[in-house]
Amino acid sequence: MEIKVIQAAAEKRKTKPTDEAKLGFGKIFTDHFFTMPYHAGRSWHDPLIEPCRPLQLDPTAMCLHYAQEIFEGMKAYRGKDGAIFLFRPTENIRRMNVSAERLCMPQVDENLFLEALTKLILLEKDWIPHGSGTSLYIRPTMIATEPALGVHPANEYLFFIIMGPVGAYYPEGFSPTKIFVTEEYSRSAPGGTGYCKAGGNYAASLYASEIAKKMGYTQVLWLDSVERKYVEEVGTSNMFFVIGDELITAPLMGTILPGVTRDSVIRLAKSWGVKVVERRLSMDEVMDTIANGALREAFASGTAAIVSPIGLIYYRGREYPINEGKTGSLTERLYNEILQIQYGQKDDPFGWRIKIAD
Ligand SMILES: *Cc1c(COP(=O)(O)O)cnc(C)c1O
Repeated sequence: MEIKVIQAAAEKRKTKPTDEAKLGFGKIFTDHFFTMPYHAGRSWHDPLIEPCRPLQLDPTAMCLHYAQEIFEGMKAYRGKDGAIFLFRPTENIRRMNVSAERLCMPQVDENLFLEALTKLILLEKDWIPHGSGTSLYIRPTMIATEPALGVHPANEYLFFIIMGPVGAYYPEGFSPTKIFVTEEYSRSAPGGTGYCKAGGNYAASLYASEIAKKMGYTQVLWLDSVERKYVEEVGTSNMFFVIGDELITAPLMGTILPGVTRDSVIRLAKSWGVKVVERRLSMDEVMDTIANGALREAFASGTAAIVSPIGLIYYRGREYPINEGKTGSLTERLYNEILQIQYGQKDDPFGWRIKIAD
């Protein structure tokens, strides 16, 4: 299928932000987006890059009622001399198809997906900011558009990709976060959709996050929903602990999102000779190892921040500082290494970086 391009008229284009320090996240979007409709019997058709516009949806569009909606989050990075890089984009593409399967939505051809992504980024390349740590955030999304009520998989879908420049996550250096362990609320359950980037998961997580924020904490630490005992994720990121000389993270058992950053952290740390263990870690063990000093670092991982150091945990009415509230050395090393690979400032021994312009 050939991707058609309709360019926005020059006078319709937005003025690009000039102050990169004020980009923030998720507020500014580029001039064009990619769209591709699906109809049962016709499959995907008419892939198109077109000027951004509001979507027209029937009020009965099924995504609005039954949350058949999935998305992805990835970035394009500007290197030196006009180079533009993607970081492990095929992982995001495959993960979106895994989410699609679980939500009874149609798969998108991997090659077409990557081609659409690349074409759109190249058309919008002047939107990629220049500052250290800034990037172009990319949000592939799929929604059920069939106008019908009744709970069943829709026959019509729209796949679209929007993009927007985002600021550096740590413009003033790391600031370790305070996290709130909830034993009352869960984000996912065995057999559920915890391993999918499905909008419904995030709607269900808001309530606990708001409680945590009102109490002065940055994020919620989610425990397993069966025993409310084992650490799963933090906010919308994967969770890591350094205990003794081991780096420990929850195993992929269907209740946590298999983060691309999580996998990159695991593989990098292993390549440095760090012992990495994917296993269930109970809050009892976290408390014991905080008490005996073995728990040295804690951090969250995800595309937005790469890694986010955790300086304090609130659990059962008490606060427990970690590493005296400071960023740990392994956390910092992982951050620097992944950042430099993403921006083309370092060798890429794993072949994670894809150059789409030079
Ligand atoms: C997106 C996401 C992550 C991190 O995944 P990355 O691929 O590393 O960005 C972790 N947990 C949840 C719940 C997420 O939505």
